[in-house]
Amino acid sequence: MELLSIIVPCYNEEKTVEMFMKELQKTLDGFNYEVIFINDGSEDNTLEIIKNLADSNPNVIYISFSRNFGKESAIYAGLINATGSLVGLMDADLQHPPSLLPEMIEAINEGYDVAAAKRVSKKGEPIVNSLGSRFFYRIFNSISSIKLVAGATDYRVMTRQVTDAVLRLNEYNRFSKGLFQWVGFETKWIEYENIQRVAGESTWSLGDLIRYSLKAIVAFTTLPLSLSIVLGFIISALAFIYLLFIIVKYLIYSDPVQGFATTICAILFLGGMQMILIGILGKYLENTYNETKNRPIFLVKETNIDDKRLDKIR
Ligand code: UDP
Ligand code: MG
Repeated sequence: MELLSIIVPCYNEEKTVEMFMKELQKTLDGFNYEVIFINDGSEDNTLEIIKNLADSNPNVIYISFSRNFGKESAIYAGLINATGSLVGLMDADLQHPPSLLPEMIEAINEGYDVAAAKRVSKKGEPIVNSLGSRFFYRIFNSISSIKLVAGATDYRVMTRQVTDAVLRLNEYNRFSKGLFQWVGFETKWIEYENIQRVAGESTWSLGDLIRYSLKAIVAFTTLPLSLSIVLGFIISALAFIYLLFIIVKYLIYSDPVQGFATTICAILFLGGMQMILIGILGKYLENTYNETKNRPIFLVKETNIDDKRLDKIR
């Protein structure tokens, strides 16, 4: 029977991991599986709880980071260390119901390369967040060559081939939703109703959402970089027409040139515009800077993966 590796990033999930594991075991009873918990620098008892789970269940693997590196890094660490011919990705808070797993595995057996979950409702999400994310999808999809699916989650099962493809994208600025779309392959979307996390609190604020959106845009399209060229042409053309207008007006009516207010407005408008465009440039430079530093995406403090297996993966 094929091995299914389930990757679960955990950050301060002491209240949820045990519940999650219980549900997962119920669903995967009879399957050949391993669970890879990534402890992403939790400040609570998450690691101890995961270690206890590993003690009583040989299918449980844990990798504990030296600090909080973020969910994207945790996903990457899991993907690298997964040995299954099928690889799954799930949140620890039971917002990704394990009951969808059999359907996902079946889709792959039918010939799909990926089976991924898509939320059909935004129940329980603040209105600003859901409006914000709709706005983000609109913008992103109109300026990027890859198209994101609204409501798509990270919850998915992929074949070994897709996993290896995602692993070849080893960039530092990781935006998994985009990476999964970028590699392509045939995806079956499985729809489900949004559910609240069972316990604990989400670490997402509106500010995080905005930062995340900007990161996604910078990572997947360079179109904003061309914005200054277009705006530059338009504004120069307008200025030239205005210049002709002033000259003609002076020649015909001998009008003295006036317009202190106009000058101030023009200067402030252009100044603001230039700062915005330099800011955009800065965002791309920031990404390039981070990539060229070539720092590791995560650092492991401890794990129960034995050296023999680590060697095999290396
Ligand atoms: N997570 C993580 N590192 C972080 C933040 C979150 O590994 O820095 C994990 C978290 O433990 C959970 C998953 O990522 O398993 C999703 O996080 P959360 O539920 O806070 O996000 P939301 O469901 O609101 O998108
Ligand atoms: Mg959650």
